[in-house]
Formats: sequence, structure tokens, C-alpha cells
Amino acid sequence: MGRLKDKVVLVTGGALGIGQSACRLCIKEGAKVAITDVLIAEGESLAKQLGENARFYHMDVANEDSVKNVIESVVADFGGLDVLVNNAGISGTNKPTHELTEAEWDQVQAVNVKGVFFCTKHSIPHLKKRGGGSIINLSSIYGIIGAPDVPPYHASKGAVRQMTKTDAMIYAPDNIRVNSIHPGYIWTPMVENHLKRSGVDVAEGRKALDALHPLGRIGEPDDIGWAIVFLASDEAKFFTGEEMVIDGGYTAR
Ligand code: NAP
Repeated sequence: MGRLKDKVVLVTGGALGIGQSACRLCIKEGAKVAITDVLIAEGESLAKQLGENARFYHMDVANEDSVKNVIESVVADFGGLDVLVNNAGISGTNKPTHELTEAEWDQVQAVNVKGVFFCTKHSIPHLKKRGGGSIINLSSIYGIIGAPDVPPYHASKGAVRQMTKTDAMIYAPDNIRVNSIHPGYIWTPMVENHLKRSGVDVAEGRKALDALHPLGRIGEPDDIGWAIVFLASDEAKFFTGEEMVIDGGYTAR
């Protein structure tokens, strides 16, 4: 309790999955939380459940005006900004590279890469005003290792890994820490919908994903949410430019 007391945290894609876990756990640890998402009903319902220290804002990370306006509103409402969690992401079209259209490629980069750029760009001046802060970028194990599917997604996560290291170095003199998290498979709506779209039986698909991880199970959103709390907190004050892999042993092979 209280690990994030007095901190203002903005989470993108905060209505569902890993983002939702981050919002719940940050509130539990005493933060004020701006839940942002394109899903209005889900975001508003979560804000209601989390109480007076949480507030929902409709924000599309792929739209610079939306990002700029919401960040300004959050700062006006909460008095500042200390932590940005760049979590919103989409898996996109699953086709081999030579069958992808430009639009399918661009759609994923717009959310997963440009979204991180826009949110970072418009948060930095506010983090500087606080004398420092923490930016936490959701990459993936597939930002580090390869896999024979969803090429635009894996490319986007590699970009996020590298953007993290660049920004960590640019903003270290401002005491702004920038780190990436690289989850293995985590059971969220993104993964469940990906299985449904692939036409596999969801229960069988989940078992197959369990088996990929040496710990014998797919991850839970809180397995990542607690790492977000740590990186947001002053406990992580010497962490920057790090890539935190949380994958039940997947990449230990
Ligand atoms: P999720 O269950 O799909 O939740 C993501 C949330 O972000 C959804 O509410 C989604 O809305 C929202 N979103 C999508 N596009 C957005 C936009 N343009 N602006 C604002 N919000 C937007 O995803 P998740 O599994 O929790 O993943 C969270 C992050 O972790 C992603 O960056 C993902 O790539 C990364 N990650 C996930 C896994 C995993 O196995 N789950 C593994 C490695 C990395 P919609 O439902 O309408 O899209």
C-alpha cells in the first residue's frame, strides 16, 4: 500500500487487459489514475469501480490532437503528471509479409509506434515540470525474438524497444526514466480475440499457449501490472533504458 502515493499515472488502453490491471494496482498503491482508451463504456465503468482517484478520458493514441488535449485535461484535473504507461496496442492482421497491404501495415504502426511517440512527446513537458518521472512502454518478447506470424506487430514491438532506449538516454538528464516491458503471452481480450479470429478452439488454443511457457501457464494481467507499479515507483529510481522480460521462462530456452 502507498508505493505510488501522490503520483499521477496516465495509462493508455486502460479499459481492458494489462492496462486495466495497471489502473487497478496503481490505485491500490495510492496513485491518482487517468484511465484512457477508445472504449468509452468499459473505461467509464472501470473508473466508477475504482472510485474518486480514477477518472476516464476518451483518447485515441493514434490521433495527435486527441493525445494532446487529453494530456492537458489530465494535468488540469490532477495538478500534474508523473507516470505515463504506453500500453495501448493492437495485434493487427495476421498474414505473411508478401500478402499484407500498406493499410494493414500502417494501421498497426499508427497505434503501436506512433501512439507511443505522440503520448511521450506530449507528456515530456509535464514530467519535466515535476522534476522527473517514469515512462513505461509495453513492448513484447517479440520485440526481442522472432516468430513466424503478425509481421507488422513484431516490427512495431521492436521499434518500441528501441524508442525506449533512445528516450531513456535523451531524458536521463531530466530525471525521466524510460523502460520497456516484454511480456510473454498474457490472457487478455487481445489474445482471446486473436485466437477467435484465427478460427481455433479457444480452450484448445489457450492450452497450446500455456505449453509455450516453462512455468506451464499463460500469464495473467497482474503478472505485468505489478511490474508497472514497480517501474512507476521510486523503488525503480536507478532503472532506465531497461528491458524487463516477464514471460514465464519463454525466452530462457
Ligand atoms: P487488450 O486486451 O486488447 O487491451 C488494450 C486496450 O487498448 C483495449 O481496450 C483496446 O481497445 C485499446 N486500444 C486499442 N487501440 C487504441 C487506440 N488507438 N487508442 C487507445 N486505446 C486503444 O490488449 P492487452 O493484451 O492488454 O495488451 C496491452 C499491451 O501489451 C499492448 O501494447 C500489447 O501489444 C502488449 N502485449 C500484450 C501481450 C499479451 O499476450 N496480451 C503480450 C505482449 C505484449 P480495443 O479493444 O477496441 O482494441
